[in-house]
Amino acid sequence: MRTPYVAGNWKMNLDRRRAFELAEALRNRAGDLSSVDVAVAPPFVYLELVAQTLGKSGVRVGSQDVCDRAEGAFTGEVSAAMVRDVGARFAIVGHSERRHVYGEDDALTNAKLRAALEGDLDVILCVGELLEERDAGRTEAVVREQLQGGLDGVTSEQMARVTVAYEPVWAIGTGRTASPEQASEVHLYLRGLLEGLYEARVADGVRIQYGGSVKPGNAAELLSAPGVDGALVGGAALTADDFMGIVDAAR
Ligand code: 13P
Repeated sequence: MRTPYVAGNWKMNLDRRRAFELAEALRNRAGDLSSVDVAVAPPFVYLELVAQTLGKSGVRVGSQDVCDRAEGAFTGEVSAAMVRDVGARFAIVGHSERRHVYGEDDALTNAKLRAALEGDLDVILCVGELLEERDAGRTEAVVREQLQGGLDGVTSEQMARVTVAYEPVWAIGTGRTASPEQASEVHLYLRGLLEGLYEARVADGVRIQYGGSVKPGNAAELLSAPGVDGALVGGAALTADDFMGIVDAAR
């Protein structure tokens, strides 16, 4: 049995005070986290504050991105060791906004994922197709390439630290979600790909989150779809009420 995993991606939202207040509210309301893993990914500059505020609540903190290099002359970048140093324990890589707004490809995503693992961070690897790719019947080909490309060179042992997030790009921030059936179809396909890449014990242990307009009102239905092991939440992670509503649906 895989423990459900709900993560909130705050993206480039909130300010220092609101990040603190949200972390404080999550800390106060986290409650018993024995049946669900919960995490948030604030902007880099608020990582330390949020990690300190969440303290021993059990809510984990991670970064939304990470540099593919360990250190050096890479202006504007932030390394895995740096985010770990201020309290982050995981990094998201390959988010669709990194891929489609900033042009990051599978090779760079893979380098970031490996840098995160090298830097002692867990990783959430995002994959997902554009609407035109879905309409052209290319969903499986797209997520296959992103999954295999993202995991290139990652060992079975390292896979214990990797979560996959299926985020259909057309469902992100649009209010439009994949139906539970559409989500299941892709999640089961991804699981099959993992089984092709790693031994069954390892493949079976990897959690696959769904992301794309997850809200308290649709979370229970999506989270109970076969193959869905949790959620990666954007907009609804920005208020404690909404986010905890989704966490409660996963408990
Ligand atoms: P929304 O929940 O706002 O659609 O965002 C999903 C997402 O991109 C999480 O990483």
